[in-house]
Amino acid sequence: MNITLTNTLSRSKEVFKPITDGKVGMYHCGPTVYWNQHIGNMRAVVIADLVRRMFMYNGYDVNLVRNYTDVGHLTGDNIGDADTGEDRMTKAVNREHLTPDEIAQKYIDIYKNDIASLNTLPPTHDPRATDFIADMIALVQELVASDHAYMTDHAVYFDVSTYHDYTKLSGQQLANLESGEGHGSVTDSDKRNPTDFALWFFKAGAHANALQTWPSPFTSPLVANGEGFPGWHIECSAMSKHYLGSTFDVHMGGIEHIPIHHTNEIAQSTCANHAHFVNYWLHNEHLLVDGKKMAKSEGTSYTIKDIEDKGFEPLSLRYFFLQAHYRSKQNFTWESLTASQTAYRKLKATVQAMPDDGVIADSYQVLFHEMINDDLNTAGALATVWELLKNSDVSDADKKATILDFDRVLGLKLDEVAEKVEIPNAVTELLSAREAARANKDFKKSDELRDEIAKLGFIVKDTQDGQTVTKS
Ligand code: AMP
Ligand code: ZN
Repeated sequence: MNITLTNTLSRSKEVFKPITDGKVGMYHCGPTVYWNQHIGNMRAVVIADLVRRMFMYNGYDVNLVRNYTDVGHLTGDNIGDADTGEDRMTKAVNREHLTPDEIAQKYIDIYKNDIASLNTLPPTHDPRATDFIADMIALVQELVASDHAYMTDHAVYFDVSTYHDYTKLSGQQLANLESGEGHGSVTDSDKRNPTDFALWFFKAGAHANALQTWPSPFTSPLVANGEGFPGWHIECSAMSKHYLGSTFDVHMGGIEHIPIHHTNEIAQSTCANHAHFVNYWLHNEHLLVDGKKMAKSEGTSYTIKDIEDKGFEPLSLRYFFLQAHYRSKQNFTWESLTASQTAYRKLKATVQAMPDDGVIADSYQVLFHEMINDDLNTAGALATVWELLKNSDVSDADKKATILDFDRVLGLKLDEVAEKVEIPNAVTELLSAREAARANKDFKKSDELRDEIAKLGFIVKDTQDGQTVTKS
C-alpha cells in the first residue's frame, strides 16, 4: 500500500519512495536542553513517533536520529539571523548556577522521562551537539574551501548568494527575508548579505564571555586558535550526515523551522556535500493553549509534570494529540484533556475486558492502514477504532486482536494492565491522617505527612479523584 506524505518542498502530497528498499532514514530536530519542554514540544515528539511507527507498520526498518542542542542556540535564532540574541545555555547557567554540562544532563534526563511517559519509542540515535564539534568544523571548512562561506573578525558566515536555491523550502522572496524580523540589530557590518548566517562564532564581541568554546582552524585577529563555538544550524547538518549520510529520506521539525533553520540546513548540507540533502520534509503545526500561542509569561507552558500533578495520565495527552492532524494547529484546554482521558480510559477498559485469541479483522485493518498511510490521518485512524467497537458482526476477541494490532501505531498501551502497588499499612494510616488534615485545611500537617510517606518510599499526589500513591 502506498504511503503519501505532504512534502513541504513541493507543497503537495507525494508517494513515499525510500532511497534503500525497506529502510527509512529520518532526522528530527530535537530540544534545546536548557529548560523543561512544554506540551507543545511533546506534540512534536509524539507526531515524529507516529510517523516512525507508521513506517514500521508498513514493514520499514527506521533509523531515527533526534539530537540534543546543548550549545550555540541563541534566542534570536528562530526569528532572524543567527548572530543575534542571548545564548540559551548561558541564561540557564546564570539561573541555576550549574555548569553547561550539568544543565544539559539535567534537562536531557527530564526530557527522556517525559517522552517515555508518552510511549514514544527511543530514537535509534540521540546525539549531543557538543560531541560533534569536529564534524561541524569539517563541514564549515568545506564551505570555506568551496567559497560558500567567508570569515569576518567575528564569525564565519554562509554566503546565501552562492546558493541559488536558498529559498526553495520556504518559497519566500529573499528580498522579504532581508527586511524581516531579527535582522540588523547586532549584525556584523562585515556581513556580505543580511541573510548570511553564522556557521562559527569567534569568542569575541558579543560572545567574548561565551562559556562553551573550542579551538578551530578558522582565523580572527580577535582570538587565538580560532576559539569559538558553532552556529545552531550547522549542528543538524553535521549529526544527520554522520548517522544518515549526505542524502536521506525524511526530515521533520516544527513549522517555524521552515524559513530559517531548515532553509539553512539545506543550504549548508547541499553545498558542503555536493549532494541532494533530504527527499521529504515534514513539518508539524503548533499546539495552542486556550486558542493562543503557548508562553511562559502567560503561565501556559504546561509540562508533563503539570499534567500529572492535575491527575492526568500522560497517555491521555497522547490520545488527545491523535485527534488532530499533524499539519493543523491543535488547541489544548483542560476540558479537552479531560474529555480525552475519559475516552482513553473507556477505550482501554473496553479492550481489556475482551477475550484473547481472536484474529485480526482484515477489512478494518485495511481501513486503518489506509488512514495512517494517507499523510498520517490519525483522527481517521482513531475513528476506525470506535467504528470497529460498534460493529456487532465482529466478535469481541477479534475486535481486541485488531485494535491491539492498531496500537502498534497508536502507542496507547491498550493492553497494559496497571501494576498493582502493594501499600503497606503504615502508609495507609498516614494517608488517612493526611486526608483528615486536608479536610481541616491543615496544609502544613498535610505536607509533613507527605514527607513521612516519602520516607517510606511512596509519592502521594492530589488528583481530582483524591490522593493517589505511587512507588518512588
Ligand atoms: P526548542 O527546544 O524550542 O528548540 O523546541 C523543540 C521542538 O518543539 C521544535 O521542533 C519545535 O518546533 C517544537 N515546538 C515548539 N513549540 C511548539 C508548539 N507550541 N507546538 C508544537 N511544537 C512546538
Ligand atoms: Zn535541526
